[in-house]
Amino acid sequence: MKMLDEFRDPNLAMKLVESIQALAKRRWTIMEVCGGQTHGLLRHGIDEELKDVVELLHGPGCPVCVTPSIAIDHAIKLASQPGFLLATFGDMLRVPGSSISLLHSQAQGANVQMVYSPLDAVKLAQERPGTQVVFLAVGFETTAPATALAVLQADALGLDNFSVLSAHVRVEPAMEAIVKAADCRVNGFLAAGHVCTITGYRSYQVFARRYRTPIVVTGFEPVDLLDGIHRCVQLLEADSPQVVNAYARIATCEGNPNALELLERVFDVGDRAWRGLGLMPNGGLQLKSKYVGYDAVARFGLSNRCEAHAEECQSGAVMSGKILPPQCPHFGSRCTPASPLGAPMVSTEGACSAYYRYTGLGARSHERREIVI
Ligand code: SF4
Repeated sequence: MKMLDEFRDPNLAMKLVESIQALAKRRWTIMEVCGGQTHGLLRHGIDEELKDVVELLHGPGCPVCVTPSIAIDHAIKLASQPGFLLATFGDMLRVPGSSISLLHSQAQGANVQMVYSPLDAVKLAQERPGTQVVFLAVGFETTAPATALAVLQADALGLDNFSVLSAHVRVEPAMEAIVKAADCRVNGFLAAGHVCTITGYRSYQVFARRYRTPIVVTGFEPVDLLDGIHRCVQLLEADSPQVVNAYARIATCEGNPNALELLERVFDVGDRAWRGLGLMPNGGLQLKSKYVGYDAVARFGLSNRCEAHAEECQSGAVMSGKILPPQCPHFGSRCTPASPLGAPMVSTEGACSAYYRYTGLGARSHERREIVI
């Protein structure tokens, strides 16, 4: 654990705080893309320590939060039919669809099962040949390779009772939508280090130049996060819109060739409706036509059309940095982790749940910050 301890060193963290404070000649607005980073920043009180020189906005990198309600509605519809089993990650169970969650549907008799990996769902299909096992696949480029592997495995086994409801998303189109918005306040990004371990960050170099917005590939421990902010402020103060890798112990410019090859073999890039953010051009991954037999939408005649419906949840405004969670009128009143109106209050990576747990604004203020600095 020595390696991790170094990235949690309070003295090192405090030195970085002081260095950022000395470096910043103005207050910069920086968005961390990943929900795991959001929780790290709030859990360790980094937002508070830096509030005079850096405003932190919380981006769209929570996979559960951006999964559209239609995907959950489709999952519920299939799980409620005789002979079907819907498998997905535990985080998805409490997320509301357009009316109820998978957990509610389970209480009403739907056949829903939590799994830890897509290959678990393939195993279920092997064990139950008379049951159609559908895996609700969510997440960014980090989780999509495992789904690709599951499809290839099912294909190799010749399973005809396994399929995937793909809600996989790509992170860069969402960052692009945020910087292109007329009211964008983001000066720089902390990119999700774990996504870059898969995708690499070469394409960010074009992005940073095109939108004159620096990007720092950043990890998740407190010293990682402060190092990422420090380097981002350095780039901003120097008016240098470049990409810097502050997660070099894991992320590389080229990414993981094996994982990229899996994605390339199984998925095509396509448009995807994101919850709260609308239709994202090139924002999703869909199964290639070669694997259409494993595509639950095609196989079971589900509608691909995204019905617009009024949502009280303001997750789109939160995830595009227009508001902070406490500015949502429902935060902590009608919307709590026990009774969530929206996915960002449910997910362990959601910005609203982070504010509820760590800022003292939610009822669970006893879970306040593990301040390391
Ligand atoms: S507080 Fe609740 S309703 Fe408001 S944006 Fe967050 S999840 Fe949605």
